[in-house]
Amino acid sequence: MQTKLADFVKDTPEGREADAILRNCVHCGFCTATCPTYQLLGDELDGPRGRIYLLKQMLEGQPVTARTQLHLDRCLSCRACETTCPSGVRYGRLADIGRGMLEQKVRRPWLRRLQRWALRKLLPYPERFGAALALARLARPILSATLRAKIPHKAPAPAWPAARHARRVLMLEGCVQPAMAPGIDAAAANVLDRLGISAIRGEGSGCCGALSYHLAAHEEGTAFMRRNIDALWPHIEQGAEAIVSTASGCGLMLKEYGDVLKHDPVYAGKAERVSLLARDIGEILAGEDLSPLRKSKPCRIAFHSPCTLQHGQKLAGLVEPLLSDLGFELTPVDQPHLCCGSAGTYAFLQPDLSQKLLADKLRALEEGRPECIATANIGCRAHLQSGSKVPVRHWIELLPF
Ligand code: SF4
Ligand code: SF4
Repeated sequence: MQTKLADFVKDTPEGREADAILRNCVHCGFCTATCPTYQLLGDELDGPRGRIYLLKQMLEGQPVTARTQLHLDRCLSCRACETTCPSGVRYGRLADIGRGMLEQKVRRPWLRRLQRWALRKLLPYPERFGAALALARLARPILSATLRAKIPHKAPAPAWPAARHARRVLMLEGCVQPAMAPGIDAAAANVLDRLGISAIRGEGSGCCGALSYHLAAHEEGTAFMRRNIDALWPHIEQGAEAIVSTASGCGLMLKEYGDVLKHDPVYAGKAERVSLLARDIGEILAGEDLSPLRKSKPCRIAFHSPCTLQHGQKLAGLVEPLLSDLGFELTPVDQPHLCCGSAGTYAFLQPDLSQKLLADKLRALEEGRPECIATANIGCRAHLQSGSKVPVRHWIELLPF
């Protein structure tokens, strides 16, 4: 695709990066067929090719309006289009750059701004989110059934094993996951312990920064990233072999620190090292002898691979064979490439589209009558559970250790 970027952007690092991405797109439209929002809405501008065209128009200095913003807001950032694209167009990166610029150009209605601000000021802070969740649990009896379904029950977490092995990996402290499902990281730490690896919590770390960054608050997001790099760096220097994530959304963000901070004069090198060390928990287990783990009782599972795992981290098909080898029976799932509608804050900001995607996804997952639905990201876990009577777990919670 030919481009002619406007003066306001053409000599900036982000402008050059966006230009290179745009030039890779040959406008073939293959990506459109696998885009969940195009499937639902049938509008070219609600598919990747149309959104790329809107972003190109903005970068070339043409007027942008609330309509441009609407079509980009409806994008899930699921990156199914990247998986399909034969030209390797990095749509996710282009959308992040474009959304940051668009936010400066088009002012949202005040209620929308307040909503986005509230999400940014609540979800990335474990204490604030934990307190809000505790209040919501207290209020459960007076809430409607729909709201009640969205509030996870408090569940006990297994004890964190002592650091007794020479092999060590790091884990981020995280943000919403410790309050919603503290058992996930604790289960991962116990599984790793059985395999001879100690998991160390990166004290002083927290939210990976994805939530703010993808809401176009780039400064806020990169501040979280720098804070995490500072917290993890002493452990990295002491030889931690990986930074392990049990939330595929956070894992993807960690893998992109190097890209996002590549022009930062202080943090570029460290960010690149963090990205090279970042691993999904599935990648760690795939490289280990799993015989120390006890075999599971046969149990029927439907696995939902989060978009951040299969399209973002390009790890489609990583977890399913691990579960099969450990004795689980996997039920067939139709259209596994499609998003469940969780997509970070999308479920709050685009509830109608999100609920339609959830209904379709649950139909596909429940078709094989599983006893449990397993996934690999806290957002998908909570979103799927809000609409299903079948228990939904992170797959690592199902492993016997
Ligand atoms: S993003 Fe890829 S698949 Fe989509 S129109 Fe461009 S080149 Fe074709
Ligand atoms: S990221 Fe997902 S929703 Fe957005 S354009 Fe690509 S396929 Fe469509």
